[in-house]
Amino acid sequence: MTYNIALVKGDGIGPEIVESAVRVLEKVGEKYGHTFNFTSYLAGGCAIDACGKPLPEETVEGCKNSDSVLLGAVGGPKWDTLPGNIRPEKALLGLRAALGLYTNLRPARIFPALKSACALRPDIIDRGFDLVIVRELTGGIYFGDRGRREGKYGPEAYDTEAYSVMEVERIARVAFETAQKRRKNVVSIDKANVLETSRLWRETVHRIAAEYPDVEVSDMLVDNAAMQLIRDPSRFDVVVTSNMFGDILSDEASQITGSIGLLASASLGATKCGLYEPIHGSAPDIAGQNKANPIATILSAAMMLRYSLDLPAEADAIENAVAGVIEDGYRTADILTDPAMEPLTCTAMTEKIMERI
Ligand code: NAD
Repeated sequence: MTYNIALVKGDGIGPEIVESAVRVLEKVGEKYGHTFNFTSYLAGGCAIDACGKPLPEETVEGCKNSDSVLLGAVGGPKWDTLPGNIRPEKALLGLRAALGLYTNLRPARIFPALKSACALRPDIIDRGFDLVIVRELTGGIYFGDRGRREGKYGPEAYDTEAYSVMEVERIARVAFETAQKRRKNVVSIDKANVLETSRLWRETVHRIAAEYPDVEVSDMLVDNAAMQLIRDPSRFDVVVTSNMFGDILSDEASQITGSIGLLASASLGATKCGLYEPIHGSAPDIAGQNKANPIATILSAAMMLRYSLDLPAEADAIENAVAGVIEDGYRTADILTDPAMEPLTCTAMTEKIMERI
């Protein structure tokens, strides 16, 4: 089969890590008889430099017309002082909205060989963990009405959170369907003791839960969830939550895996065309030095094969190759646990993974 993949490399380490994922996909193509046609598009800081806006129309059109999109990361200090409407991050929000991607799937699990890179106590981490955060991606406070105004105490700023029943229903369905393919447990996270949007969220999740009697559902307040992820991550299977809570909790989950450089994500909507990206940013501190860990982006490419291209065996091949390389003791600098060891470069780690496919 032939697949058209849009590449949005972005800024900082983006080009290096996307290049690694492309090489791994080409290896998969060779082995399984597929052709991947890659077309690169600009977004983020590099697009601001080239054409004055973070998300050119050509990028949106190119991504919409592809089978799937693989993204590196956007942003960096060079563009930090620009006004809000032309910041690199606008490209991400714009692309998610243009492609109608309302679901963000963020798996987090511990590789047994990386237990010593994990910040949690050994008795906690010995239980292991394997969870998926299902984050609502196109609603809530990141998309609500916002502004500046004169308030009771002088100038003030405001952001508003709004969720419709439809938005909660569709993300709840994704969570229950994801759980049906896993350990059949959903924890819905909200702040229903304070927020009206959370009370609507909770009511709606429970109404939809009735359609999935094989899945166990429970609620947890977000402050408690932040604690439980550290106290006992093994208790979670599928976590479903709003845009902002999901943003924060998934970064917390990334830290307990050992490094942000390991975590992949998939953004999905009503069509098969998804957006796949590592959860980390553009890491300007290590950009251009061949030090970045490419694993999060390579695992994002595996998610793309699984969710958008229906190639589960090929996705397994990548995931097994990554697990094997870690098991064999190969490490980039961010996951190095033995200071006496020489870390692998981004390119060398990529090649180790390719060798195992
Ligand atoms: P970051 O994730 O880029 O970096 C945080 C730390 O993790 C840094 O020390 C970095 O070197 C390290 N790191 C990140 N990815 C790594 C990898 N693959 N291998 C090894 N180490 C890695 O977060 P930040 O420093 O807060 O943000 C930097 C820029 O990225 C900012 O402009 C921010 O807006 C942007 N950002 C973009 C995205 C995105 O494109 N999705 C997400 C978050 C941040």
